[in-house]
Amino acid sequence: MTDITDIGAEIARRRTFAIISHPDAGKTTLTEKLLLFSGAIQMAGAVKARGEQRRARSDWLKVERERGISVSASVMSFEHDGFAFNLLDTPGHEDFSEDTYRTLTAVDSAIMVIDAAKGIEEQTRKLFEVCRLRDVPIITFVNKMDREARDPLELIDEIEQTLALDVTPAAWPIGMGRHFRGCYHVLDDRMVLMDRGDRSSINDASFSVTGLDDPTIGEHLPRDQWQELKDQVTMVRELCPAFDLQAYREGHMTPVFFGSALNNFGVRELLEGVGRLAPSPRRQPATPRDVAPDEDKVTGFVFKIQANMDLKHRDRIAFVRLCSGHFKRGMRLLPVGSTKAVNVSAPVMFLAQDREIADEAVAGDIIGIPNHGTLRIGDSLTEGEEIRFTGIPSFAPELLRRIRPEDPMKAKHLGRALEQLAEEGVAAVMKPRITSSAWVVGVVGSLQFDVLADRIRTEYGIPVSYETVEAYAARWVSGDPAEMKRFADNNVSALSDDHTGRPVFLARNAWHLNRTVEDWPKLKFDKVKNQV
Ligand code: GDP
Repeated sequence: MTDITDIGAEIARRRTFAIISHPDAGKTTLTEKLLLFSGAIQMAGAVKARGEQRRARSDWLKVERERGISVSASVMSFEHDGFAFNLLDTPGHEDFSEDTYRTLTAVDSAIMVIDAAKGIEEQTRKLFEVCRLRDVPIITFVNKMDREARDPLELIDEIEQTLALDVTPAAWPIGMGRHFRGCYHVLDDRMVLMDRGDRSSINDASFSVTGLDDPTIGEHLPRDQWQELKDQVTMVRELCPAFDLQAYREGHMTPVFFGSALNNFGVRELLEGVGRLAPSPRRQPATPRDVAPDEDKVTGFVFKIQANMDLKHRDRIAFVRLCSGHFKRGMRLLPVGSTKAVNVSAPVMFLAQDREIADEAVAGDIIGIPNHGTLRIGDSLTEGEEIRFTGIPSFAPELLRRIRPEDPMKAKHLGRALEQLAEEGVAAVMKPRITSSAWVVGVVGSLQFDVLADRIRTEYGIPVSYETVEAYAARWVSGDPAEMKRFADNNVSALSDDHTGRPVFLARNAWHLNRTVEDWPKLKFDKVKNQV
């Protein structure tokens, strides 16, 4: 990065965003095309190719390779048209939602990709709900318009109904499937027609028109398709609310683009849309006060830890979202609550093709800080002020199992491995108060059990097995200390402690859970642990 002199201008051109979607909607394809289009990569296929290289290097990604899914999130930074984009990749598979949820706390906006034939799917809806918790503005991209799709109006209606969101078309598709021709851009009266020939570059014809009656349209579309376009756009302009930038930025309205990532179509307009419409880094909620991006002092928070990316070095990278200040390499930052500052001598930036040492960064940027376990998920980093960023959630695990080392002599080692992996957020780890040797692990999706076992075996050399445990749900319990003590004395068999020492209640079944919550009205039983 070049030397930064005007911090305000740098912040203003940052767009830090994520793509949310259901598996198979086209997120990988779209990511690749965004990078291709911005010139960050030369050749389509590079996202996958880069993945292959990484896979070849690291053993623990075996699960990833075998199942053909993407387990680890990464960050890609690229420039286009004066904007600096930071795209935070979120693992698409439904089993890795917790990692994804946390990544969403580090973005200022999101693109929601929808398969035009399928509409809103389960995972899209869940991720959307997480965005809504923080009013993250969302641009919708309806993908795969080159295939038989559902009626666009019906799709708009579905988004509006299922997500309870105002929806307005930024573009309107002309035909679909084999007859898909391109889009009419409702926001700025422009036509973009698709070139089906070359998938590795963007050659689409884009031209401005004065409106739907502009005769230029007739030079490109048959009369009946032109008439249909006119009718439809006139109708949706009447039916849908007009685009309102403020409503979008507050998370109440989503503009919808249509396209085909595979054919590169609509990608340029989408990226321009993120540049023009999406917000630059916002104020971040924190206690005792919020933090504005243009404050002088550097602040940030850890939203993801990735350990052992390179087995030889046993490195751990803490992914930090910067929230304010002008970060410079070599700075000392203090994890709030700790007395030991971290000397950030070799921070990593994630340019689309490579990792690179970061010399400077500002609010909205993501830097990777290599460390040996000093940084944890949810940590706030400052130059000394006691500020804690809020709203980085942990979700109560939905699936629980007991974990044991195959060699009983390795129980202690297993404990340490589990603590480290819990800090990384791979699984929730709980130590029951009565049986002192067996840990209970909890995950949101069952594939995480495989990942966990695989990592413990390859990274720590401890083969493990799982056993069922009579537990239906886990809840973090908190409240007045005297009441907590009374509760603990009465429920010792159902209590455990998580890796940070917070008490967790393990209910045997739904009845046990409801009954306990009713019996202890002064205590809180949380499904989400906010790392405050
Ligand atoms: P992800 O799981 O969301 O990352 O989805 P991928 O990007 O891997 O895409 C899933 C499948 O849909 C792949 O076979 C893609 O080639 C295909 N696909 C993606 N975009 C399009 C598109 O615009 N049109 C068509 N026909 N197929 C697409």
